[in-house]
Amino acid sequence: MARKYQPVFLNYGFTLNIDKHNVHRPQCLICLDVLANESLRPQKLKRHLEKKHGDHVNKSREFFLRKEREMNNSKSVMSSAVFPSKGLTKASYLVAEKIAKEKKPYTIAEQPSLPCAKAMCREVLGETAASKISTKFRFLPTRFADR
Ligand SMILES: [Zn+2]
Repeated sequence: MARKYQPVFLNYGFTLNIDKHNVHRPQCLICLDVLANESLRPQKLKRHLEKKHGDHVNKSREFFLRKEREMNNSKSVMSSAVFPSKGLTKASYLVAEKIAKEKKPYTIAEQPSLPCAKAMCREVLGETAASKISTKFRFLPTRFADR
């Protein structure tokens, strides 16, 4: 039976992190380490705080609340700025690789592949995904060829 995160755990400097299996895991607001579900108990969280962040032991709940807010803010900035472009870069490489394997000119990526990809994204994922593809997607044949 998986343990559940309790709001009181914030007092020990831990926020809730839900993993891809929907399991609650404690995430330290100081070092950002994500611990096992098993660690969701006051004793363990307290021990982490005392051992690793002794100087934060007597911090108030307000202090950790602020940390939590800071983390959430940087997370949303990250997910909107870093991850999609990281995904797009990888997507660019994948496309370049496929084109290279087919021994086709790279220009095939721009026309007709890109408009097709846009249309597919629009239908399947929506307008936001389609516009990401059209504004941020870049083919990187030269960098790809360097590898
Ligand atoms: Zn920590």
